Amino acid sequence: MIADHAKVHQPSSLARTIGCTGWVQMSADIHREETQEAREGTAAHWVLEECTDKYKSNIYVDPYSFENKTAPNGVIVTEEMIDAAVIHFNDVVDTVENRNHQRANLYIEETVTVPQVHRDMFGTGDTVFYCRVTNTLFVWDFKYGHRSVSAVRNFQLMCYALGAVRRLNINPQSIVMRIVQPRCFDGKGPIREWVTDMNTLHEMSQLARERCEQADGPNAKCTPGPHCRDCPATYRCPALQQSGAVVYDYVQSPASPIELNDHHLVLEYELLERIEQLIKARKDGVEEDIKRRLKNGVNVPSYSLETSYSREKWTIPAKEVISIMNLLGVDAAKPDVPKTPNQVRQQLKKLKIDASVISAYADKEPNGLKLVKDATNRARLIFKESMKNG
Ligand code: SF4
Repeated sequence: MIADHAKVHQPSSLARTIGCTGWVQMSADIHREETQEAREGTAAHWVLEECTDKYKSNIYVDPYSFENKTAPNGVIVTEEMIDAAVIHFNDVVDTVENRNHQRANLYIEETVTVPQVHRDMFGTGDTVFYCRVTNTLFVWDFKYGHRSVSAVRNFQLMCYALGAVRRLNINPQSIVMRIVQPRCFDGKGPIREWVTDMNTLHEMSQLARERCEQADGPNAKCTPGPHCRDCPATYRCPALQQSGAVVYDYVQSPASPIELNDHHLVLEYELLERIEQLIKARKDGVEEDIKRRLKNGVNVPSYSLETSYSREKWTIPAKEVISIMNLLGVDAAKPDVPKTPNQVRQQLKKLKIDASVISAYADKEPNGLKLVKDATNRARLIFKESMKNG
């Protein structure tokens, strides 16, 4: 079973191929639905692209003018998406302005090919800027998710950098790779940077090439690790399932008091961290498979699907919320934004005002389906089975 290379050998999944060459063939026939989180990320990317494009053409656009507009993928743009896009946009503008304003050398959402890694490898980098004065290439990738991504030896950025080098026919002295991740609160700040050179990128691309070749061939091997987390095959991967079985043995081993020295304690802690990641990956995969079956009308015992909702949000502009609540004698303003609907609701209750008024100005949006324990479903199935068996 050889996968469709054009779909699987992409910069965004290359780090997984480095860790596990088996996933490409394991996932070849799996179609995954786009999550709401991914759709929101696409809308935030759209705001970024619009702003950067206009900046390149010397047109000023207020990023916040996109609020409540509909992105091409149908998602309504929120203030949070704009806040995130602005951090990336400002960093690009600062970088360009500090280097002789070479806007013409800015490349936005350009698709590049990286044949030195794989014949079908191509991808679209968010922003690339080549400073001809210092012979420096800047490559940015905008991440809207929460999970921390490092810029150091980042294979996705490596692809965009090598693709740009090839396309622009340049030989930069240094390459500045930046991940902009405003919604990750790991203490490292919203922008992570790694400065490297062509020799290092060549050495990384060599490793990537070897892994891609192995992934396409008969010796591809499933190797569980942190890269399993986003693998489409987690629910059907025997190697990952086995790693779960190892944990079971580990937990079941007879409890006898043990005194570990410092070194062994750290080793065990790191092992447990690794196990935790593997179990999480497997659990997520199995959960996704149960959801898929339920959506297809299969009666999975004990579980059913329920619509999940976003946090409650105001449905009218901030200024209107503040002035309406002022009329009710409630101060709904924080320094720059209104308080949340729930905070205002509590204030209304304290003033003995009917808090149901909030529902006229706030709402929760459906944002997907969640798996819920459903005892009635199990009872139904047991009843059905007993009827079948007479
Ligand atoms: S679940 Fe992990 S080990 Fe299995 S194919 Fe995917 S990445 Fe490889």
